[in-house]
Amino acid sequence: MDSCKNSLERLAIIKKRMARAQTRFGSGKQDVTLVAVSKTFPVKDIRPFLVGGHRVFGENRVQEAAGKWVGLKKEFNDVQLHLIGPLQTNKAREAVELFDVIETVDREKLARVLAREMEHCGRKLECFVQVNIGNEAQKAGISVNEALEFVKRCRNEHGLNIVGLMCIPPLEQAPAPYFALLHSLAEQAGLTKLSMGMSGDFEVAIEIGATHIRVGSALFGQRAKIIA
Ligand SMILES: *Cc1c(COP(=O)(O)O)cnc(C)c1O
Repeated sequence: MDSCKNSLERLAIIKKRMARAQTRFGSGKQDVTLVAVSKTFPVKDIRPFLVGGHRVFGENRVQEAAGKWVGLKKEFNDVQLHLIGPLQTNKAREAVELFDVIETVDREKLARVLAREMEHCGRKLECFVQVNIGNEAQKAGISVNEALEFVKRCRNEHGLNIVGLMCIPPLEQAPAPYFALLHSLAEQAGLTKLSMGMSGDFEVAIEIGATHIRVGSALFGQRAKIIA
């Protein structure tokens, strides 16, 4: 199938660009996970990547993800699905059942409810704390000033398995200073994983220490509509 070939060609190109960027990172050695962001794309567009062996995917809406991935995960049971969009507490249980990693823990109430639902489901997921790295009024994420305290509370009071920090820098600004700030916060928090970098800036992110990049349009093509 042609579309299949195109998908895998795009995947191969991204992997090459990742490898090149990795050699420019200080130690040149960190592992970088490619989270293929399949939001808005139907199963038929996702399947070629699965058949080609890719296993790590990201979705930003619980409902949409359930519609596609409950079935796909039965077929490909070693998939690792990341939630990369804002999570409402009333969807927390469904999110815990479906996803393997939650990248968007960003407030006290959500941390508490997620902890309870993970206990209930007997699934202790890896979590990232999302930081509102540009302190933008309209953006999700814990503020930069509160981030370190919040990570501590997530771990100590709620018992969440916080593995790293995630951010989406302000649009239309050079992302490097924001990636560097996230890197520094993670170091201060004693966290080793950094989810940062998207289609337009993943190489910069890798050079600054990203361990997870979230790439949508460069793999799947342009999305029909923008879903934040
Ligand atoms: C959509 C989305 C991405 C992927 O964006 P692209 O520019 O298409 O690579 C990454 N992270 C988050 C949180 C997203 O919502």
